[in-house]
Amino acid sequence: MRIDLHCHSTASDGTDTPAELVRNAAAAGLDVVALTDHDTTRGYAEAVAALPSGLTLVTGAELSCRIGGVSMHMLAYLFDPEEPALLAERELVRDDRVPRARAMVAKLNELDVPVTWEQVARIAGEGSVGRPHVAAALVELGVVPTVSDAFTQDWLADGGRAYAEKHETDPFEAIRLVKGAGGVTVLAHPAAAKRGRTVPESDVAELAAAGLDGIEVDHMDHDADTRDRLRGLAKDLGLLVTGSSDYHGSRKTCELGEYTTDPEVYGEITRRSTGAFPVPGAGGA
Ligand SMILES: [Zn+2]
Ligand SMILES: [Zn+2]
Repeated sequence: MRIDLHCHSTASDGTDTPAELVRNAAAAGLDVVALTDHDTTRGYAEAVAALPSGLTLVTGAELSCRIGGVSMHMLAYLFDPEEPALLAERELVRDDRVPRARAMVAKLNELDVPVTWEQVARIAGEGSVGRPHVAAALVELGVVPTVSDAFTQDWLADGGRAYAEKHETDPFEAIRLVKGAGGVTVLAHPAAAKRGRTVPESDVAELAAAGLDGIEVDHMDHDADTRDRLRGLAKDLGLLVTGSSDYHGSRKTCELGEYTTDPEVYGEITRRSTGAFPVPGAGGA
């Protein structure tokens, strides 16, 4: 059983539509795929409608959080998407995306990079605009060779020259809200150092004490030593260990199913959640 619990669609900054994502997941031989767009659940309906038979969809989201000035991502699974408190917080975060992207464009213009808001908006298309879209504009302009090269202190990494802050949820609040909506929380790529400063282990321990369910260990941004260290940390703290591709379509190099989650861990996630059930594919269009 192959389980990939972290994927993005055009509902946020992926390049596959939700329908393409589930078809590609089935073609990649996955049995379970999670749709975890940034701060939104609006891809769910399309993904469910197109879900091929043999593939199960786990509904989720990747919540933008910040702790002690460090941005971090919290994966949330199988929560009730209509639960009002969690819905309101996601809207607060999302509404800040456009002003924030505009602020990054303005900072780049001050650095003599001729990027325009129209260009970034065109790249984002229907998706909720984010930093990867600004990074893609820098690639288009030939400022950097790849999107990853834009995530440095010179450009768009946290605290970088063209970085702009946005509203992000306190992770303790995120855990509380997701639990209140019947969902399960997993700290995404906790040691992805190249994205900026990472969350210290003491914070992970406090989050675990506050009800965090798991941490994402097997991820493209973690090297072998980091994975070993995180596996040990998870064991010490009694946290579930997940692995996933963080697939973004053609925007990032990672393939669907490149990293996967143990079926037992997946089973535990489904047992702990009461907000939504995994959706078995009925063979959609
Ligand atoms: Zn993330
Ligand atoms: Zn992600």
